Order: sequence, then C-alpha cells, then structure tokens
Amino acid sequence: MTAFAIPTWETPSIPITGAANAFPVRRIYCVGRNYAAHAREMGHDPDREPPFFFTKPADAIVPNGAGTPYPVQTTNLHPEIEMVVALATGGKDIPLDQANDCIYGYGVGLDLTRRDMQGVAKDMGRPWDMSKGFDHSAPVTSITPIFQCGIIESGRISLTVNGELRQDSDLNAMIWSVPETINYLSGLIELKPGDLIFTGTPDGVAAIERGDVLEGHVDGLETLKTTMI
Ligand code: MN
Repeated sequence: MTAFAIPTWETPSIPITGAANAFPVRRIYCVGRNYAAHAREMGHDPDREPPFFFTKPADAIVPNGAGTPYPVQTTNLHPEIEMVVALATGGKDIPLDQANDCIYGYGVGLDLTRRDMQGVAKDMGRPWDMSKGFDHSAPVTSITPIFQCGIIESGRISLTVNGELRQDSDLNAMIWSVPETINYLSGLIELKPGDLIFTGTPDGVAAIERGDVLEGHVDGLETLKTTMI
C-alpha cells in the first residue's frame, strides 16, 4: 500500500437499487446538446455538430433525497434532467456493437449549470469547468443494474419543479444514442470502470431558486428528488 502524505478520502459512490453494496464513481463525463430541441433553444443547429463532452468531479454527486446547496457565484442556476449511464468496464475505441456490454446500469441525474457563468465562458471562449463542474453539481439516483431494467433505449424523461412540468421528452430523441456516445467518447479517452456518462438533456431548461423541489423521472428507473437549500 502506498503511504500518503495527508489523510485520504472515501471513493465517491452511489447506492445500487436493491443491493447492499455501492457503485464507485471514478469520473463523470457529460454530453453537450444531445437533444435537438434543447440544442435549438440554446441557439445551435443540432444537425451539424458531432458530440462534445465536458466533465464534473466525481465528488460532485449528491445522493438521492438529500438537499442540494444552491451554489455561489450565480443568479441563473439551471437543472438539466439526464439519464446517467454507469460503466462496469471500459476500453479504447469500443465498437458500437459492444458498447452496451460496458454498462453496469442506469440512474437519473441533474446536470446543474451556472447558466450565467456559462454564457460568459461561451462569449469569451473560456472553459465550462466552473459553470458545470462545481461542488454538488451532480445529484443522481441509485444505479439500477441492467439485469433488473434491461438495456434502455427509449422511454419518458421528465423534470418537475414544485410539481410543475418543465422538461418532458423521450430518450429516443437523443441525437447520439448511448452506444454511439460510448463508441465516440472511447475514441477520445480510455473509458474506465466506475465512469458515469450524463447523456444530455431535452428542451425546457429554466432557472430554479432556493426552496424549489425537483423531481426527475426516467421510465424504469428510480425517481430523483431533491430540494434546493
Ligand atoms: Mn447537460
């Protein structure tokens, strides 16, 4: 065992639906603009863009049911409802027809975004890290293993804020399917066991405030619940 110079920390993890053990989180990759209607509402032509990615720290996850702290340095926080893919195995240049074999299971997550800060970053050609990868920026449900839910390719994805429907679409509206995303991303980096992939959000994004109650839903998976505190 390596002797470390400072005290170490626990590996970030997410509960597994119906199991006592947990899913260890290595890295969090997020797909940008993966639903055409959302790409259009953000001012882009969804037909011309290959997938692109950004990341969040592994310890940005917030467990389901916990309060999510409203972050500093923003007055325009947007929650993006997304299906989350949890990888059991990884690899480089994973072929399309083997991509689903890497999946351990799925969860429901929020890609919290400091939209005002992101707007400045876009205008100035700066990175998105601080608008996307801040503390507590990734609330996520327990992971449902594929032996329970099967491979998920379609189904309703929705978000309510204080009981009011904000986002409502179908997973089959993704521009890049989950296997295509795994195939493409594994051509950029070597994917590893424990990696999470946030698969993009449908249209309907808008600001939330402290005290708002959020419920995120994907057919067949646990419902995500969090209150902004
Ligand atoms: Mn997103």
